[in-house]
Amino acid sequence: MGAGFEEMKSIVIFGSGIAGLSAAHELAQLGYSVTVYEATDQAGGFFRSARLGKDNMPTEYSWHGMGPWYHNAFDLMQKIPFSEKGSIYDLALSRPVDFGIFPDTAKAQFYAGFKSIPKMFRMNTREFITWSYVMLKAWTSNNRSTSKYDKLNAAQTWKPFLKDTAYKTWRSCFGPWIGSDWSKVSLHTTGDFFRKQLTTKPPHEHKADHEGPAWTQEAGIGWLLFKGPSSEYLFTPWIKHLKKMGVKFYWEKSLTKLEFDGTTITSAFCGDDKIQGDGYILAINPFITAEILSKTPELEKQEQLKLFKPLIQGGPHIQVSFRLAFSEEIKFPRKRTAVVVSDSEFNLTLFAVEQVWDKEVDLGQNIKSLWTGTSCISSAPGKIYHKPVNNCTKEEFIEEVTAQILSCGALNELIKEANDGKELREFPIIKIEVWHEWKFSPAGITSLQPKWVNSTNTQAFLPAQKTPVSNLFLAGAHTKTQAQVWSIEGAVESGRRAAKAIDDRVGVLNQYQPAWIKFLSGIDDILFTIKAPQLIDSILISLILLIIIYLLA
Ligand SMILES: Cc1cc2nc3c(=O)[nH]c(=O)nc-3n(C[C@H](O)[C@H](O)[C@H](O)COP(=O)(O)OP(=O)(O)OC[C@H]3O[C@@H](n4cnc5c(N)ncnc54)[C@H](O)[C@@H]3O)c2cc1C
Repeated sequence: MGAGFEEMKSIVIFGSGIAGLSAAHELAQLGYSVTVYEATDQAGGFFRSARLGKDNMPTEYSWHGMGPWYHNAFDLMQKIPFSEKGSIYDLALSRPVDFGIFPDTAKAQFYAGFKSIPKMFRMNTREFITWSYVMLKAWTSNNRSTSKYDKLNAAQTWKPFLKDTAYKTWRSCFGPWIGSDWSKVSLHTTGDFFRKQLTTKPPHEHKADHEGPAWTQEAGIGWLLFKGPSSEYLFTPWIKHLKKMGVKFYWEKSLTKLEFDGTTITSAFCGDDKIQGDGYILAINPFITAEILSKTPELEKQEQLKLFKPLIQGGPHIQVSFRLAFSEEIKFPRKRTAVVVSDSEFNLTLFAVEQVWDKEVDLGQNIKSLWTGTSCISSAPGKIYHKPVNNCTKEEFIEEVTAQILSCGALNELIKEANDGKELREFPIIKIEVWHEWKFSPAGITSLQPKWVNSTNTQAFLPAQKTPVSNLFLAGAHTKTQAQVWSIEGAVESGRRAAKAIDDRVGVLNQYQPAWIKFLSGIDDILFTIKAPQLIDSILISLILLIIIYLLA
């Protein structure tokens, strides 16, 4: 029996995003009585999809890429039945996407191992060496990375080492891959993200299916997607399973206030409804959490909880997702092609869902190809109106996105190659849709719930899941995790850590770090403490000094 079971038998969770559902899953499995209160009428938060129009076209908030280091997410998916034939992990995950960088005036380049990096990012040898040098410094730093490199903008750090083409191409993958954009993402986040991506262990094994033999997703190998819309392929089966496990759900119930007696939470309020449990997990967005905490000043002052205000100081992040629906099928020469439109002003990324999804998934009336994409930066001016996304009307945004995609020469070449020379602009677009919760207004774009993302200067304020209030716990991809990136891996890990803070029997999988990185970053921790230069710089300085001494001797 777990440490918390005697004291806390009933757990109330606010928020049915991935973090809240993960906590619910772990605790229900251990016999707790779990109730989830969700502000909207649907589970999934920022990861959900919907079919809103009469044409039944699927739409979604976000991309759904899952990297080889999504250990907690994949582990949990193995425990959720997709159908009587198997789990989400077995049946709902695609094979890896083939990520390519697509410039406007050069050929598309795909990742094919570490050696392909210079070609992919249009770097010459000198640029590749200096690029690797900065990356290696980030990889071999631990405390220096979380406290110093977190305050450095990654794009700015690399800028002096790269010419314009390489610099712009490299930074164009920050939004599509890391989920933050190049104006915001820190050197710490970038270094940590690519270290995990290129060195993670263990690999994830997958069974043979109608597409081919058994396969493995391992470090360096591309990202997986769902084989259909996320709400249909993840949340619907998951909620069904959780209900079977006894979890109760209340929809359209927003937490508005917590009552605190100086030691514990005594009750929670959803408007006038008073809600009580032995333990409370807040698995809601950090902006809304900050607002709720501000109503109970004594609570807001507590350790971990006082981090919310500085955590959201940079304001919401805007990443608008869109769909392009075509009335003819567009073929690609490669399977599951994921496109970074690397010269696009709005830093666009997209893939054709029919390349990834099960054949039986309805794309919507008369739709033969459906491209889903995201504009990853909101502060850079567009091609036609010279306005950033944030100041565009919805119509201007759609026009810009279309123009930026059609200007991508590399994409057009690939389409021509697979479609008997037919150009992309010759395929009729029958609908362009933008996720409905992004509201365009002259004052800027807002979303129903503000989107948070790791940025420069957020690392120090990530709250832990366990708070000093003995019956209050935090979950969410914005809390402190080893995933370190606002992602579904971060969300699952955080939900598991919140559940573990209640009951020690809950298992959480740790991120792997190669022994050589652990060793070198351990040495750098010592150098950082004595205010010496970073380890790689120190080695370089020592080598130069030795050469000078040798030459002088
Ligand atoms: C454009 C875009 C692209 C992305 N691409 C990827 C990707 O490729 N891979 C990846 O791993 N991640 C991606 N993400 C990130 C991922 O979607 C999030 O990190 C993750 O879904 C966060 O989950 P969460 O449970 O922490 O929070 P949320 O999803 O925010 O869930 C919080 C839940 O709480 C509810 N709630 C809010 N307020 C209240 C209240 N007062 N009372 C009760 N309930 C409340 C919300 O409605 C929501 O359901 C992307 C996100 C976006 C927006």
